[in-house]
Amino acid sequence: MPWPTADEAVFDLIRQEVHRQNTTIQLIASENFASPAVMAATGSVFTNKYSEGYPGRRYYGGNMVADEVEDLARRRACELFGADHANVQPHAGAIANMGAYQALLEAGDTVLGMSLDHGGHLTHGSPVNFSGLQYRFVSYGVTASDERIDMDQLRDLALAERPKLIVAGATAYPRLIHPEPLREIADESGALLMFDAAHIAGLIAGGVHPNPTEYADVVTFTTHKTLRGPRGGAIICRSDHGPAVDKAMFPGIQGGPLDHAVAAKAVAFAEAATDEFADYAARIVENSRALAAALAGHGFRLVSGGTDNHLMLVDLRTFDADLTGKEAQATLDAAGISLNKNTVPDDPRSPFVTSGVRIGTPAVTTQGMDADDMATIADLISRALRNRSDDAAIAAVRADAEELCAAKPPYPGLDAEDQPASGGSSRPANAGRGNP
Ligand SMILES: *Cc1c(COP(=O)(O)O)cnc(C)c1O
Repeated sequence: MPWPTADEAVFDLIRQEVHRQNTTIQLIASENFASPAVMAATGSVFTNKYSEGYPGRRYYGGNMVADEVEDLARRRACELFGADHANVQPHAGAIANMGAYQALLEAGDTVLGMSLDHGGHLTHGSPVNFSGLQYRFVSYGVTASDERIDMDQLRDLALAERPKLIVAGATAYPRLIHPEPLREIADESGALLMFDAAHIAGLIAGGVHPNPTEYADVVTFTTHKTLRGPRGGAIICRSDHGPAVDKAMFPGIQGGPLDHAVAAKAVAFAEAATDEFADYAARIVENSRALAAALAGHGFRLVSGGTDNHLMLVDLRTFDADLTGKEAQATLDAAGISLNKNTVPDDPRSPFVTSGVRIGTPAVTTQGMDADDMATIADLISRALRNRSDDAAIAAVRADAEELCAAKPPYPGLDAEDQPASGGSSRPANAGRGNP
């Protein structure tokens, strides 16, 4: 690159974030470590291009190469999931959902979605989100007995409410979601079916979870969670919905696509089509089951009794009735373990406090951790939470977490070359600027 790195303030922070990711344990279920190829494409000159429209139908000139990269990404997405049509332009999962709704619904239409406090996403009808403001969402949830999706309730609601659309998929649900019975309920009630695979797209691509593409009218997903690509979203659908989906995304919702993200999505789709990725997806679930079992051994209650996917919901109350999700998250942050507080079904505490945490294994699996490491992580979590008022104990857990990561850092090359700057050279942001 002909340009020197001029902005010490920002690049110092980037080095610090590399160091944080390399030396602490990432258990946030929606996070992952993208490959160097994905990151290189994300940081490429495609960030400079304007490509409003679609391949062959752009508003501006100079899109001969951008057309090819978007076509490649669309083709690879269709092959990966067995879809007729793909739109790879959504900037994020939430925007992909907005696009799908706008393609299929009119304002005020009734939609069935999973209740937020039972694992659904903000975009599945939260009253503070565009989805809840624009459409009439009715919520289904999990049963009180086995904490799995209550299919009887879902069917009863569908027949009573006659929704235009049923939305499947979740953000904090540890069990397999079977697409076929959802299709049957949609057909019986005259509804369309959308499957929001934001979290599990990588498990589907890797063949570990059933593929909803042949059952759903539209499937939305993010490319940065289990799929391990760049931050972004995508929509795949049957060809009859293709024109409406494309029109909704552009000009309906977005302006120009992020061509650098589209290029990186193409890279990620190819990576996800490999045998190595199928093996990775299987190991995510193995690790998730191992971690869940180890945590249960420490006295934590697993919502629904366990997990079929990349995440688990941990009810903290059996471990310590006074421990909230909020306090657990803060304690573990100090101990070098990142996760998020989460409500458990019918949580008596507020969403800002919660009685649970959500834990996911996509990132630690990417860095090569195995079932033994999961047992170690469960140990560290238990030790930190039991000794949460003891600073020395927390520091000791943090040291152990760092040691665990040191054996399998996600970005070893990056941290070795770019240790956090010690000298604190803080030149003004524009010093040394000037391309030759
Ligand atoms: C993460 C998620 C989204 C939103 O994705 P963003 O990229 O954060 O906008 C949508 N739906 C579900 C189920 C999710 O888990």
